[in-house]
Amino acid sequence: MLTIPTSIAEEMIAHARKLDPHECCGILGGKDHTVSQHYPITNILANLSEDELGRFDGPKLSDLKQLSPEERADIAFQMDSQEMGKALRDIRDKSISLQAFYHSHTFSPARPSQTDITIAMEFESYREKLNLPEPLHLIISLLDKSSPDIRAYRIVNHESLEIRTILT
Ligand SMILES: [Zn+2]
Repeated sequence: MLTIPTSIAEEMIAHARKLDPHECCGILGGKDHTVSQHYPITNILANLSEDELGRFDGPKLSDLKQLSPEERADIAFQMDSQEMGKALRDIRDKSISLQAFYHSHTFSPARPSQTDITIAMEFESYREKLNLPEPLHLIISLLDKSSPDIRAYRIVNHESLEIRTILT
């Protein structure tokens, strides 16, 4: 179970709508499965043109280039690492903990894609070195623009399991 204040859910939806058709992303901090802090993070892919994507020298991005545009649209987010570090430091300074990573799906349901699962497993492989708790993965779907859908998942052993979210 993950409890999210309605105000933070509304902020995330506003962030998702602002970046649509690009995906938004961010981090949620809190305590005991209750979110209290929202950190929108810049999606560095949203600001890159097709050409810039080609020049970008990252292993994940070279993989992205091999995907079809549809597949890429589904996974096209990468958090700015400096902002991510800053948010994680703020979470530590506030004596709360990482609760979830979130991103939006602009054209698909609020379910992790195969690539979302791969990225989450990559993160799992070095998470303990960063001394971070296992985050849930939250997806905000704008498939139905008038009624955004927010769902949370645990991603373990290459499988996703939906976790109930409660808005308060
Ligand atoms: Zn996704």
